[in-house]
Amino acid sequence: MKTLTLGNITISNVVEMGPMQVDHKYLLLGSTQEALDRHKDWLMPHFLTPEYKLLMSIHTYVVRTKRHTILVDMCFGNNKQRGANARATNMNTPFLENLAKAGAPADKVDYVLCTHLHNDHVGWNTKLQNGTWVPTFPNAQYLMSKKEYGYWSARKEGDFSYDSFVDSVLPVVEAGKALFVESDFVIEDEVRLEPAAGHTPGQVALKVNSKKKEAVLCGDLMHHPAQIGEPDWNIPYDVDPAGTRQARRDFFTKYADTGTFVLPAHFSDPTVGQIISKGSGWAWRAYFGD
Ligand SMILES: [Zn+2]
Repeated sequence: MKTLTLGNITISNVVEMGPMQVDHKYLLLGSTQEALDRHKDWLMPHFLTPEYKLLMSIHTYVVRTKRHTILVDMCFGNNKQRGANARATNMNTPFLENLAKAGAPADKVDYVLCTHLHNDHVGWNTKLQNGTWVPTFPNAQYLMSKKEYGYWSARKEGDFSYDSFVDSVLPVVEAGKALFVESDFVIEDEVRLEPAAGHTPGQVALKVNSKKKEAVLCGDLMHHPAQIGEPDWNIPYDVDPAGTRQARRDFFTKYADTGTFVLPAHFSDPTVGQIISKGSGWAWRAYFGD
């Protein structure tokens, strides 16, 4: 994406993985080629291939205000062991160098926010140092939704993403770097959290509002733009499928045609856009810059 400027605030991204192709039947439960065809005028070519593969991305957002540098969602990370997920195991990418190029060298990061604690959102919280997982950002406070942390604290070995909770979340807490917050926590006047539960019980979004321009970094409220046309398509990892469907409809109703920029965690480049009304439903208008 091109850097987005909203009044006093800029937002850019650093891509760890993508664009990658994903089978729609695997990711979007109940999806069909016929249904995708209904939306192909706005899904192709950036989000859907002619072979009906979904184009997706894993990235971190860099939000820079006059006072703070804030990272949102922390991808898979390097050197992690993720069992059957070969793509996420033993990764070795120049993510930190790319972050520095994007204006966020590790020692200058003030806040890290994982919208939720799935393994593709917490990885870079920690890095391997002499065989131990240590916080990657030494001067940052890691914001954690109390509700989300509570949910994961009750998981156990073998549960999905419990391994990443152990190597990418607990070391941050043990180092005293975690700040447990409510789902409407205010970071500064123009930047605050907003509840976005459903995909996980304590997921939060980051809301940015500056000089009448607004953006919402909504994590995994949705994974692919096709879900804007088909809000009832869940993914296999939605903890509360019915709640997620309702949360999506509420979100689209609230933000459609408002000009609010929406920045989900897995939309392929340009990764930012707006929700617009279309017929009796909604569509995605990708934002490529002015
Ligand atoms: Zn995700």
